[in-house]
Parts: sequence; structure tokens; C-alpha cells
Amino acid sequence: MSCHRCSKKAFYKRINTRRAYQCRHCKAFAYPTAGTIFHRTRTPLKAWFLAIFCVAFDKRGVSALQLADQIGVDYNTAWAMLHRIRRAMATRDAQYHLPSPVEMDDTLIGAPTVGGKRGRGTDKTPVLVAISFVLNPAAKEEYTGFAKMQVVASPGRESIREFARQCVTPGSHVRTDANFPYRVLTESGFVHQPIDVKNSGRKAHVLLPHVHTCISNLKTFIQGTYHGLDDGHLQHYLDEYCYRFNRRKHRPELFDRVLLACLEMPETPFYSLRKATSALTQ
Ligand SMILES: [Zn+2]
Repeated sequence: MSCHRCSKKAFYKRINTRRAYQCRHCKAFAYPTAGTIFHRTRTPLKAWFLAIFCVAFDKRGVSALQLADQIGVDYNTAWAMLHRIRRAMATRDAQYHLPSPVEMDDTLIGAPTVGGKRGRGTDKTPVLVAISFVLNPAAKEEYTGFAKMQVVASPGRESIREFARQCVTPGSHVRTDANFPYRVLTESGFVHQPIDVKNSGRKAHVLLPHVHTCISNLKTFIQGTYHGLDDGHLQHYLDEYCYRFNRRKHRPELFDRVLLACLEMPETPFYSLRKATSALTQ
């Protein structure tokens, strides 16, 4: 490695008081963590790597409380670390659009239900879910592909239009139920295939199997891991879920991949984590 200022080779010495190296010739500082989520953090990098390991390998998702305990930091530090890692994962996934064909549906996510009561309660947050699948005409089978999820104010036309635009490859085939708002997909340039679930005499999970399995697994994940889910940050939990789901066939590489996502992510000030909900949440 050569100095970025005087170009002399291998003349850096380690600075003990901060995460930096200094050129022995021109005294210029080099900050290896600049431009990553690790810059300016007071938490040791070893703790960060452990946190990334936990996030990458715990299929059920790790809570701030568990993480604090596992890596020996306080709850607030663990919370902020988790959210920075989740953001890095989300930013990575946002680079991809789902390939055609896709199933799309909406669901409600909220506090665990009491007394088996389900449905459209006021304490629940609407979420749009899209999932790609692969047709295998020979075997007459379909395989689940990649998933995207978005918190929305309501699953109406505008939310669906914007979600599809951001998440699905333009012109894709999109299968949904026959609810009115999804008709916006046709005018948005998608090949829309509405399925009249109500009048078909068949169950929604048979007609829209991929998105329904995905939603049901998501609900299990959220109830099992995040008791008393912080609704303002639901999008980040969804992003983490999708990131892990989309790489379920690459589990051994997950640590490297999450670490890489973190290295490509600029530092995030703590205050912006606190007020953070997705820009798409209207
Ligand atoms: Zn130098």
C-alpha cells in the first residue's frame, strides 16, 4: 500500500488513539473504515464482526437484547448496530428488481393477536409483498424466487404502483387477487393476471401459493423473534427478512456478503436511525 498523498510505499504506522494509520513521511492520515458503516463508531470492530455473524447466521433474526448479551455491549449500542446492519442489507437488495413472473399481495403486520382474533385491526400496519417464481413446464411445477416487502399507509392504487415500479422488472407478468387497486398494474405497463379468489371456490394459498407461503413465514418470523415489535421500524425488519430469504441458497457465504454490504454503506448518524422509517411510507 502506498500513501495517498506522497505515494511513498509501506510507510504507514498504526495510530493507537483512533482507527487510523499515519504516513511516516508526510504525516498524512489514512482511515481504512472511511465510507463504511464502521467509520467513527466507538464499538470495537471485533464486536461489529460478531454482530454481523449473528445477523447472518441466526435464521430467526437476532434481537437487540440478544445481541447485547452475545457480544457484550449495552442495549442501545446493540440496537444501533443492528439497525445499521439492516440498512446496509436493505440498500444492497434495493439494487435489484424482481424478475418476471411475480405474485403480489398485501397483508397486515402488527402486535401478536390476542384470543385468536385476526383481521383488519387498527393497530396493524399494511405491507405489500411481491415474490418472483420460476416456471418449470416440464415438471409442471413452480419454484419460489426472490421477495420484496414494503410498509405502506394503505394498500391502494398509488402504493401498489410505486411498489411495483421500485421492485418489479418493468413489463413483468404479475399475478394478484382480483381486488380493484391491483388493476393499476396494467396501466403501469405490467402484464396483470388478476385471479378472482372469492368466486373461484378455491383457497387463496392454492391460487397464489408463493406470496401466501411467504406472508405466513414472515408472520412466524416476526412473532417468534420480535415480541413487541417496534412498528416505526417494521420496514427494517422486513428488509432483513427479505435479504436473508433472497440468499437462502447461499448461507455459507452470508457472513462475507453482509460484511461486504456494510463496507459499501456510508456511516449513518444515530439520530437518523431513530426517526427512520422508509421514505416510501406515506
Ligand atoms: Zn505520505
